[in-house]
Amino acid sequence: MSSETVKTTEVIISCSDNGQHPLVYINLKSGKGSCHYCGRKFVRVEADKEAKPKAA
Ligand SMILES: [Zn+2]
Repeated sequence: MSSETVKTTEVIISCSDNGQHPLVYINLKSGKGSCHYCGRKFVRVEADKEAKPKAA
């Protein structure tokens, strides 16, 4: 099994592994979390910082 990491800008994300397990909501307030059903990992990213060069 591969442990994929999903990046999201959402604080709360849902996972059902394409219907393979009951829908659960994962809180990413701390910046990351994982689904205890399928083991998928989620990382929260800041939407504002997306691919923007740093301003001096
Ligand atoms: Zn899952």
